[in-house]
Amino acid sequence: MTPQRQLLFRLLHSNDTHPTAESLFERASHEMPGISLRTVYQTMNDLVAMGEIEQVSVGGGPARFDPNTDDHHHVVCDTCGTVRDVYVSGADQLAIDGLDGFDAVAPAIVFHGECTQCASSSNPPHHSTKEN
Ligand SMILES: [Zn+2]
Ligand SMILES: [Zn+2]
Repeated sequence: MTPQRQLLFRLLHSNDTHPTAESLFERASHEMPGISLRTVYQTMNDLVAMGEIEQVSVGGGPARFDPNTDDHHHVVCDTCGTVRDVYVSGADQLAIDGLDGFDAVAPAIVFHGECTQCASSSNPPHHSTKEN
């Protein structure tokens, strides 16, 4: 393992926000000045290929990286973008219509909603008021 790989692996495991490569790069730069974004991308791709981490995409944004390689799914806060892990029982026994022979092997369920922090806040950070 290269020092870069060790650092990124550690940063990812101390972080349950499913960070993007850019946000990992920001954190890594504090600890290892001079590390390049390109190195971060390459390292994350390597770790995904090795099965050490997973790449998740939720709602079309940039790819996020996930140290949790358990069989799990995600819930996304539509207000602040927080992504959390959730466990769904019976996801491998879903009754699916319309596959037409499509070989769908890995269900990735993304729930949308509002996180407890946003729900309890009367003034959510990214709430836009349209009162014109
Ligand atoms: Zn939220
Ligand atoms: Zn996850």
